[in-house]
Amino acid sequence: MTLRDLYEQNPWIPEFERARREKLIQLSKERTIYSIDELDGTWKNLVRTARVAQSRAYPPFSDYFVGAAVLGSDEELYWGCNREHALFTLTVHAEGAAISHMVSGKDVESLVEKMIQENEMEFTNLEPRDLPKVRRLAVVVPKKKDPSIPVLPCGLCRADISELMESPDIRILSTFPKGDLAMMVSLDELYPHRFDSTFLETFSKEEN
Ligand SMILES: [Zn+2]
Repeated sequence: MTLRDLYEQNPWIPEFERARREKLIQLSKERTIYSIDELDGTWKNLVRTARVAQSRAYPPFSDYFVGAAVLGSDEELYWGCNREHALFTLTVHAEGAAISHMVSGKDVESLVEKMIQENEMEFTNLEPRDLPKVRRLAVVVPKKKDPSIPVLPCGLCRADISELMESPDIRILSTFPKGDLAMMVSLDELYPHRFDSTFLETFSKEEN
């Protein structure tokens, strides 16, 4: 018996999964489903980039290869793949990896080169930078037997994207497991009641 068998014996899970699956199928029926070929050039490039990133994934436990690509507000493409760990909680998701790539930027090598030229070993500019924001994001998932259900970013990734989104209505493109079809959703649809920095506002003791 596998762990999956045990999981499926849990009396409420099959029903819950069926209901969720039905909802997703319904959602995909209500939405425009795009063939990858009919997307604009920028989306196509994002999907290609995400597919290359997917091929670099490291999922030795789930075998679930995921690639993501972000178009930043600086018009640059950034990418990331999932990476699993034997301590499962350390797993890195592709969307978050692509956003980390956007945050660290593509100019690291040139900055190191500049330090070498200036014979420096210390980089003291730790002032906040004007970071690019996520403008578009594409995710590709493995092909599966049941291609009718779109795969959308998980809850952690929805929150992760929202921290550095350009606006709540940025488009997220999720591919179907079939591989050649995609569905667009806005981040606002996926994560309408997001946690953001306004929840961190506190009052001083005097005000309380
Ligand atoms: Zn995720």
